[in-house]
Amino acid sequence: MNYEGVLTKMKTELQDTVQYYLIFESDFLNMNQLLGKKISINFLRFHCLGCHKQKKIFRNGVCYNCLTSLPEMGDWVMRPELSKAHLGEQDRDLEYEQKAQLQPHVVYLANSSNVKVGVTRKSQIPTRWIDQGAHEAIEVVEVPNRYLAGITEVALKQHVSDKTNWRQMLTNNLKDLNLEEIKEELKQYIPEEAKEYYLGNSKELEIAFPVLEYPQKIKSLTLKKTPFYEGVLKGIKGQYLIFDDGMAFNVRNHEGYEVALSVK
Ligand SMILES: [Zn+2]
Repeated sequence: MNYEGVLTKMKTELQDTVQYYLIFESDFLNMNQLLGKKISINFLRFHCLGCHKQKKIFRNGVCYNCLTSLPEMGDWVMRPELSKAHLGEQDRDLEYEQKAQLQPHVVYLANSSNVKVGVTRKSQIPTRWIDQGAHEAIEVVEVPNRYLAGITEVALKQHVSDKTNWRQMLTNNLKDLNLEEIKEELKQYIPEEAKEYYLGNSKELEIAFPVLEYPQKIKSLTLKKTPFYEGVLKGIKGQYLIFDDGMAFNVRNHEGYEVALSVK
């Protein structure tokens, strides 16, 4: 079977094992069904998800021009503590920013290789955790806007990491942690403005990923360097496809890449 389209991050569904879907304009693939099959990926051309031009992708699926101009690509996305919509101050487009920032946000702990702290819109739970390949996660505070989540994350980062070790995550070199305990230990470091939003009763969520076999060693596949690749799909975790030779393909990092995909 052959498919063609522009890559966007895989859609997911939390079930006993996470279900993954790759959505192309005219096709819809349940990636779990491709486990154990030989897949080839052939990079055809760039397709900016912002302006739809055939321009080199810079980051987040968009070209440099879109990255530096679209409201959804502002610095407050990666650094929530820079959010200003709650003050009525505009970064690139106040109306957009009010909609995006002035809604419930959650600061969470997720364990994908080590415990890390992160921020997401409440509506993105558990999607965000699945995308990070976290096998367990817990909510710490739920606040009414992105700024409060951001300053809480900054404070908690002093005490836990905010990074995932993706090699450890993909080789399943993991520890099970008691996130409820860690959450309680961190409570004292939540900034004054956000203390009232602490979630005393939140429970750890366990997530199981569709992986037949974890590799011992991981190499990363980038289509810019290797425009054609073929391998047997052994697992899916986070936004990574894991192949039999230890190659890991980060679908999210290839948003805006138009590819031909064939399944044998
Ligand atoms: Zn563009």
